[in-house]
Amino acid sequence: MSPEEFRQFGHQTVDWMADYLAGIREYPVLAQVEPGDLTAALPASAPETGEPMERILEDFRRLIVPGITHWNHPRFLGYFAISGSPPGILAEMLVAALNVNGMLWKSSPAVTELEQAALGWLRQWLGLPDEFFGVIYDTASTSTMHAVAAAREMAGSPRGPLTLYCSEHAHSSVDKAALTIGIAKANIRKIPADGEFRLIPRALAEAVEADSRAGLHPFCAVATVGTTATASVDPVADVVEIAEKHGMWVHVDAAYGGAAAIVPGRRDLLAAAGRAHSLVMNPHKWLLTPVDLSAFYTRRPDVLRAAFSLIPEYLRTREDPRAVNLMDYGMQLGRRFRALKLWFVMRYYGREGLAAIVAEHCRLALLFAGWVRADARFQVCAPVHFSLVCFRYRGSNQENQRLLDRLNASGLALLSHTVLNGEFVLRLAIGNWRTSEDDLRLVWDKIRELASAGG
Ligand SMILES: *Cc1c(COP(=O)(O)O)cnc(C)c1O
Repeated sequence: MSPEEFRQFGHQTVDWMADYLAGIREYPVLAQVEPGDLTAALPASAPETGEPMERILEDFRRLIVPGITHWNHPRFLGYFAISGSPPGILAEMLVAALNVNGMLWKSSPAVTELEQAALGWLRQWLGLPDEFFGVIYDTASTSTMHAVAAAREMAGSPRGPLTLYCSEHAHSSVDKAALTIGIAKANIRKIPADGEFRLIPRALAEAVEADSRAGLHPFCAVATVGTTATASVDPVADVVEIAEKHGMWVHVDAAYGGAAAIVPGRRDLLAAAGRAHSLVMNPHKWLLTPVDLSAFYTRRPDVLRAAFSLIPEYLRTREDPRAVNLMDYGMQLGRRFRALKLWFVMRYYGREGLAAIVAEHCRLALLFAGWVRADARFQVCAPVHFSLVCFRYRGSNQENQRLLDRLNASGLALLSHTVLNGEFVLRLAIGNWRTSEDDLRLVWDKIRELASAGG
């Protein structure tokens, strides 16, 4: 491709992106396609000879876009809604253009140094201790896998089979991390939660003590700040205390909820997490950074490195702290220049700008919960701590399922669900900077209309 062609198609592509984002409300939120539609529309084999860029871009618009569920849509309110942002998108373009690999400091110095700098800034915003060392992975799942691996490293030669503890509401990535590291499924302990879906410390202490007496080796406890089902907050300080007594590693999963710590008035959200061994927080969830970017912090980078570095400690020359080789702190060798988009986003919005968006989402969630409470046909099913509202129609699980299916099929909005105490519960999660009060009003009107029509 000649430089002139690259410039021409680059401009075309950016124009398409700008139009797409400006007109995002015109799209149905949920892709209106059936399984196999795209597969059937694509040739069974790749072209033998190259095709013109015009045709590739045309097929992107004609075939790919209709199969997209628009996470950018302001009424995408399922799972944990996320939003990329214009500065983040521009940074992604530059990263693709640079196409560097940051495995070592010297393989591209700015990759390593900007990662350390941006995560240092973020650490200050989150109120985490200065000694927390940060490293970027792709997802919270990968971050948590590294935490569990470091926990096992710290455990040394186990006294017996290793056991890991988390609440029954912990994210499935904790189970996957443990399984990946080779912990037996039977040794992943799900600690019961209280009426507000928080891990019960006494139950944790009893489980750890019983396992120790039985000859097992408790090595890791995971606490969550903002659980996936209800965004509940585990009593992190109690978990730290219990774990310290038994020499266990504590990992805090704040993948979603952690972002709220940048809001004035919530600066102490992660205060107890500062006593943990590690923490994960996803800027790609609620901090306007395009997928993917997960920030992992640990106060024990030495242990993390011991778990993943193949250079024996006795051969290690004293590293210049500004020249760390990030390949030593994880599973992967090659690494994308993810820090650039976080740096763009942090600079463009500033803490105040991002905090205002996060705080507005929390305000909207409380507002929506108020509407739900004011309608006797509905109930709010969990405390609203962040930007997630769990609620249900006071009817059968089937009626709630049907209501959700019809709402999502309408293309007006997308919500997801969870099951709490055997009840099917709708989840409305606000995470997009475009979501307005009017959007939520439209969604609530539609939900009430569907409920009146019998789900
Ligand atoms: C979203 C989420 C995860 C998983 O995040 P990925 O980055 O998709 O792996 C884990 N834990 C919690 C609490 C989450 O909200």
